[in-house]
Amino acid sequence: MRVGIRVFFIILCGLPPLCSAQARPLPGPDVHEIYQRLLAQIEKIEIFDHHAHPGFPDDPDVDAMAAPPGSAALRERDSNPELVTAAQALFGYPFTDLSPEHARWLVQKKAELKRAQGTRYFSNILDKLNIEGSVANRAMMADYLDPRRFSWVFFADAFMWPFDNSQQRSRNPDEEVYLPLQEKMLHRWIEQEGVSKLPPDFASYLSFVSRTLEDNQKKGGIAMKFEVAYFRSTRFGDPPREEAEQIYKKYVARGVPSPEEYKTFQDYLFRYLIREGGRLHLPVHIHSAVGIGDYFSLTESGIMNLENVLRDPRYASTTFVMIHGGYPYEREAIWLTAVKNVYMDSSLMEIAEYPSEFKRSLKQWLETFPDKITFGTDAFPYNDALGAEESYWLGVQSARSGLSAALAEMVSMGEVTEAKALEMAKAYLHDTATGLYQGKVH
Ligand SMILES: [Zn+2]
Repeated sequence: MRVGIRVFFIILCGLPPLCSAQARPLPGPDVHEIYQRLLAQIEKIEIFDHHAHPGFPDDPDVDAMAAPPGSAALRERDSNPELVTAAQALFGYPFTDLSPEHARWLVQKKAELKRAQGTRYFSNILDKLNIEGSVANRAMMADYLDPRRFSWVFFADAFMWPFDNSQQRSRNPDEEVYLPLQEKMLHRWIEQEGVSKLPPDFASYLSFVSRTLEDNQKKGGIAMKFEVAYFRSTRFGDPPREEAEQIYKKYVARGVPSPEEYKTFQDYLFRYLIREGGRLHLPVHIHSAVGIGDYFSLTESGIMNLENVLRDPRYASTTFVMIHGGYPYEREAIWLTAVKNVYMDSSLMEIAEYPSEFKRSLKQWLETFPDKITFGTDAFPYNDALGAEESYWLGVQSARSGLSAALAEMVSMGEVTEAKALEMAKAYLHDTATGLYQGKVH
């Protein structure tokens, strides 16, 4: 027996990759070298950005909601010196700070390029960062974004807010900002579909909802997005249709539903929408992280509240992309991707976290379900100086360095080979996301 084992090891050690097949808990001294090698390769991988809001800061369609005043985490503040590096890399910014006087140079430079380049402006930003294609998660698509590079993801929340929202709005100052914009969005869908007002019966309302989804898909929409976590709890009940129908009939024309009645109606509508996502092959993107504004409830809107929906076999034909990976609960969240139709997107995480910490989050994901995770930047035009351009840059640079570091440790600790690490990098940065859209994105 002992001889047998010895022979077995001799055979194994004749095959170099298997010789170190026992994983170790600490990286070796080769980790820096592996990191540099991987980073050089990873920089060459063309990226698909699975979640971003490209647009100019004066464009109101860049989101279906607006940011209320609130606290920003350290790295997301205007004072972050990395933003100066971003402006230098993208625009040749000649200064070392973003003082109002210097920032004017940047605003002028962008205006000049915008005039000169037109629809090429944002495509050029993608080119500089080796991004092949990007989601444009926007209220409406912009005519200055090239549809060959930017794929529209539209918002579906507004269908859940058809009644008098005065009671919902008064919950806190953030809702006073958010809910009027949801009402506006619903009004735009009503105009788009050429109906004069909301239909009096529930069946017609549901067909208006479905028609809007279908028309948005025809207009190039590749997925629907929910920001519902900002507006209410993500604990969804499972009421029968009759209950939702009664509430609709009672309040569609006038009256203020009680919070319980509104919730019941929305629980039904949300489930209707995600079922439609399955029927239409329209993946469902859900904001699943902590949010902006000081009143965002992590307890009521944490990702694990959605477990009953995501693990429900009735929705097996709906593809779910959990935007922002449930952060700061990303370690638990990755286990939800055990369900075949559930994916995690890391946008925002690599901006909210510095690369040292993002490396840890991503490594745990790569070690669990590496084939179920996708890259996104959450690029957004924060203001005239700090635009979607700079946030694309910050997201891409941070993700590449965090990803290379996570994989370098995994290689050094004997978990995967370098070739396998690069395969995982390509899946995360590009292939897993593009694979969800049946050839509609590249
Ligand atoms: Zn976003």
